[in-house]
Amino acid sequence: MRRISMFGATGSIGESTFDLLMRQGGAAAFHTVALTGGRNVARLAEMARALRAEVAVTAYDDCLPDLRTALAGSGIAAIAGPQALLEAADRPADWIMSAIVGAAGLAPGFHALRHGTTLALANKESLVTAGPLLMAEAARHGARILPVDSEHSAIFQALVGEDIAAVERIVLTASGGALRDWPLDRLARATVAEALAHPNWAMGQRITIDSASMFNKALEVIETREYFGVAPDQIEVIIHPESLIHSMVGYRDGAMMAHLGAADMRHAIGYALNWPERADLPVARLDFAALGQLTFRAPDEARYPALRLAREVMATRGLAGAAFNAAKEIALDHFIGGGIGFADMAAVVDATLAALSHRNSLGNAPMGLEDVLAMDHLARQEAGIAARAIG
Ligand code: NDP
Ligand code: MG
Repeated sequence: MRRISMFGATGSIGESTFDLLMRQGGAAAFHTVALTGGRNVARLAEMARALRAEVAVTAYDDCLPDLRTALAGSGIAAIAGPQALLEAADRPADWIMSAIVGAAGLAPGFHALRHGTTLALANKESLVTAGPLLMAEAARHGARILPVDSEHSAIFQALVGEDIAAVERIVLTASGGALRDWPLDRLARATVAEALAHPNWAMGQRITIDSASMFNKALEVIETREYFGVAPDQIEVIIHPESLIHSMVGYRDGAMMAHLGAADMRHAIGYALNWPERADLPVARLDFAALGQLTFRAPDEARYPALRLAREVMATRGLAGAAFNAAKEIALDHFIGGGIGFADMAAVVDATLAALSHRNSLGNAPMGLEDVLAMDHLARQEAGIAARAIG
């Protein structure tokens, strides 16, 4: 029986993964090693019982008593804290979903690769902060990373049977998020609730706001470079409001391979779960005659400074990705907390990168995970200072 684990089980990607696991046979078809969550221990315990997991892990020590209570009589072990997440990652499994949100997802995924697992990677922050380390670790241990981000799953699928050397360009599609049609002067005053009204995708709170600011697409541009090894100038972004083309690969002969499907993450999760095979998936089928048309427009860099920042990060490389992601996470915290405005998030990230490039060598290649985590820590402090100055 295939042994599986899931990090971030209680989130949006976690719920979709759980849904597919249950549809594909649940505890009768999979041996579940570990399930992890954060504060939602009631749901974590439900999932752990349904899949008869060996262990359930909450990221927070203060949540452990509630998790224990919720698992009473089940025989499922309950543990807590960042170290417990690593312990769970060290338990051998054949397939592991990495779906914690933020840089907190990096260390568990990194640990899991040491055991030669197949890591289904939704946590794009892992590749943005530590791409070269992660890819090297996977290669060293014969582990495999399969993309779960819909764009990267689409690119991965459009590359099947092809030679990466024949690729001319990769076109990442972007919905443009909740505020894509707002006039620029109104955009700066957008509220959290307004940024959360995503037109096409139902996702976690943080990635939904990142979609409106295009910080999500900025992370994905970097993720594309790290995962597929193409040059930054081979990566384009196009706004495609319908979100039905999930991304495209353009080849030297002018051919474009596009991946289309409903805006449902179970496409990409199901592909990673069943790869290299395809399984029946409970996603809506496209009716092209009813759709009528698909539309595209170029992203405006004045509206989306995050895209320019991603180009700068790729030019710097080294630890710049770790600094960029950490600054973005802090800026987002301050926006959600009401301390800064929507447009200030890019200003905070910009100021953080500027401050760090004066004081440190952002371009230095990280020697290990510790270097990435140290830069993550430093950039969080610097971004906090910038956010308080701007707010
Ligand atoms: P959610 O916010 O919905 O879920 C996050 C998960 O991580 C929850 O299980 C949460 O626990 C847990 N968690 C939160 N903070 C921590 C922490 N500090 N340590 C350990 N666990 C923590 O996120 P999403 O599912 O939307 O996104 C997960 C990842 O997948 C992100 O990297 C995102 O960018 C990526 N992704 C998501 C897509 C989507 O459609 N949602 C699409 C493509 C990529 P709890 O809720 O119990 O507190
Ligand atoms: Mg995506």
